[in-house]
This record gives sequence, structure tokens and C-alpha cells, in this order.
Amino acid sequence: MTDNGKNLPSSISELDTRYLILDTRFRRGLLFVISGPSGVGKGTLREKVFDILPDLKYSVSVNTRPPRKDEIEGQDYYFVTVDEFKKRIEENIFVEWAIVHGDYKGTPIKFLVEELQKGRDVLLELDVQGAMQVKKKFPDGIFIFIAPPTWKDLEDRLRKRNTEGEKALEKRLKDARVEMEYKKNYNYLVVNDNIKTALKKLESIIIGERCKIANYKK
Ligand code: 5GP
Repeated sequence: MTDNGKNLPSSISELDTRYLILDTRFRRGLLFVISGPSGVGKGTLREKVFDILPDLKYSVSVNTRPPRKDEIEGQDYYFVTVDEFKKRIEENIFVEWAIVHGDYKGTPIKFLVEELQKGRDVLLELDVQGAMQVKKKFPDGIFIFIAPPTWKDLEDRLRKRNTEGEKALEKRLKDARVEMEYKKNYNYLVVNDNIKTALKKLESIIIGERCKIANYKK
């Protein structure tokens, strides 16, 4: 090294992306699952982690909730009716599904399995019920729990987001208490006290798992 590292990229991910060809040939695809209470900032973290690690694949869920103002079909969710969702359950297209805050949500199995088989890393954002179903089927998955620093912080964030009415907000807060109990079933805990540090933690977990010898094919 001739420049004392001055010209090295500041983020590991640039290098990581450059090594993609090597990774996909020699490393198994990794399945990352993130969960955490509504309002904890999972969505923002998820978006930002894809900016840093563009080779990571996101599995788009099927959802019976009506789209929010800025949500895009096929990008944020596949929006379907309850009848359509139930039909898809019968057709066995989901690796997991659950009723979350009163709406059906599910992960299609086809995309997930195909990407993992290609050696690509996939990230799912699931509620705790869905994550536990995935854990049974994919015990090698990497399960990451995102937690708020305090209950007050979570409530403030939900109020600020203001996508739900007061009744729905109360329900999400009540659900959050139950969801937090599940964190012991996860491999990693990321407290989202600050988006920048939480993102760094999430990125570090992903990079760390990518470097694990055990994740390389023999
Ligand atoms: P929202 O309605 O705010 O988009 O999502 C509510 C919750 O549903 C989030 O906590 C998210 O993690 C969870 N969720 C999103 N997609 C799925 C899915 O496919 N399956 C399960 N089990 N939960 C999901």
C-alpha cells in the first residue's frame, strides 16, 4: 500500500459490489430478515441499505392494505383484494403469510428461492409472525430485530408519520409491546436511536455475514 489507505473507498460496500462475481460463484445466497415494531424506521433503513448495497435483492410482499399516497405497485407491495390473497394461499405461493395490523401480508416463495439459488442475497422485511415461519423453513437465515430506543420515541414517530388514525395507532403501539418480546429469537439487535448509526450497524451485519467462511461453498 503506497498511499496509507488515503485513496481507499470510505465504505466497504464499493469493494463488496466489485467482488460480486466472485461471491455469486463461491458463496451461498444469504437470507436476511428484518423485523421490528411499526414506526421503528425499518422502511427508511431498508431503503438506505439498498442504496449502499445495490446487489442486495428485496422481496416484494403481497398485501391487502390499500396503497398509501407514495406507494408504488410492484415496488413497495403487490396490492390485492382479500379474496385474491386467500386464493394465493390456496395456491401455495407463499413462503409465509400473516395478518398484520388487520391486513394480510405474504412473501412469494418463487422469487426468494430463485434468487438464493443464484447465490444472491435477499432481504425480507416481515412482522414477527412471518419471520418465525421463515426461520422454521430457512434456519440459516440471518434474523435482525430493529428496536426503538424508548417507547416514547416509537409513539412520537408513529404520530409524526400520521398514516394511521388514532385507533389504528393505538393498535400498532399495543402490537409493538408483543412484537418486542420476540427479539430473543433473532440473531442481531439494532437499536434505531439514530438513522446513521443504525444504518452502519445494519450494513456491518450484512458485510460481516458475507465475509463468514461458513457461508462459502466447500
Ligand atoms: P405496513 O402496513 O406499515 O406497510 O407494514 C406493516 C408491517 O407488515 C411491517 O412491520 C412489515 O414488516 C410487515 N410486513 C410487510 N410485508 C410482510 C410480509 O410479506 N409478511 C409479513 N409477515 N409481514 C410483512
